[in-house]
Amino acid sequence: MFSQDTNPRVLLLGGTAEASRMALALSAARIAGVFSYAGRTVAPLAQPMQTRIGGFGGVAGLVSYLRNEAITHVIDATHPFAAQMSRHAVAASAETGLPLLALERPPWTAEAGDDWQSVPDQTAALAALPKAPARIFLAIGKQSLPMFAARPEHHYLLRLVDPPAAPMRLPSADIVLARGPFTLAGDIALLRQHRIELIIAKNAGGDGARAKLDAARVLRLKVLMIERPALCARRVVTAVEDVLGWLAHCDRLGV
Ligand code: NAP
Repeated sequence: MFSQDTNPRVLLLGGTAEASRMALALSAARIAGVFSYAGRTVAPLAQPMQTRIGGFGGVAGLVSYLRNEAITHVIDATHPFAAQMSRHAVAASAETGLPLLALERPPWTAEAGDDWQSVPDQTAALAALPKAPARIFLAIGKQSLPMFAARPEHHYLLRLVDPPAAPMRLPSADIVLARGPFTLAGDIALLRQHRIELIIAKNAGGDGARAKLDAARVLRLKVLMIERPALCARRVVTAVEDVLGWLAHCDRLGV
C-alpha cells in the first residue's frame, strides 16, 4: 500500500475499544507504529503492535516523543472524555506538522422511552442530584468519583476495572469489579439487585457501555447524562477503515 519512502510510522493514542480495533487493523495491514496507553489500568489489554505505557510529559514531551520515534502520523483514539490528551495531540501536531486524525465514536442520543437529563459536566451532575437520599449507579469511571464525596447522603454503586487503590471517601458505596462490554440482561440484573433509582453516565458512545442505558429504559430509570467536553477543531472519523484510507493518502502536510 505504501512505497518504501512513504512508509508511515503511526502513534496510536489508545485506551478504548476503538483503539484496540485500530491496532488490529494496523497490524493486519502491516503498518508500523506504537500503541500508547496512559497507564490507568493495572493490566491493560495486550495489543498486536509495539506498546508504550505512561504520559509523555505534556505537549513538549509529546513533541519530543514524536520526533525521537520518527512518527509520521498521529491517530487519537482516546476516550471522548480524555480531553487533555486530545488537546495535547492537536497542539503537538501543529508544532511538528504531523498529520493528526481522531477516531471517535458518535455520542449516544436518547430514544423514545428514555428519561435523560443532559448536563454539561460533572459539577453540573453533582448539582442535579436529588435532595432526598437515593441509590445511584455512578457509571463514570474512577477518576471522577472523589467529587461525589460532597453528597454523602446518597448510596453509590460503582463499577470499576481495578479495585480502588485508596479509600473511596464515599460513606455508602458498593463496588463491582468488571470490564466491559456489558449486556442488557446483565445490567438489568445489576440495577435490580442494587435497587438503583438513578444513573449518572458520561456520554461516551459506542456499544460496550450502552447496556446500562437500555436497562434504564426498560426499568424506567432516570439518567443524568454528562455531555462531552468541548475540543478544538480537528479532523474526526468514526470508522477504522476511514483511518486506513487517510493513512494511505495523507502525507506530512495532512492532505
Ligand atoms: P486526559 O485527562 O485527557 O489525560 C491526562 C494525561 O494522561 C495526559 O495529559 C497524558 O499525560 C496522559 N494520557 C492520557 N491518555 C494517554 C495515552 N493514550 N497515552 C499516553 N498518555 C496519555 O485522559 P484521562 O481522561 O485521564 O484518560 C486516560 C486514558 O484512559 C486515556 O487514554 C483514555 O482513552 C482512557 N479512558 C478514559 C476514560 C474517561 O472517562 N476519561 C474512559 C475510558 C478510558 P502527559 O500530559 O504526561 O502526556
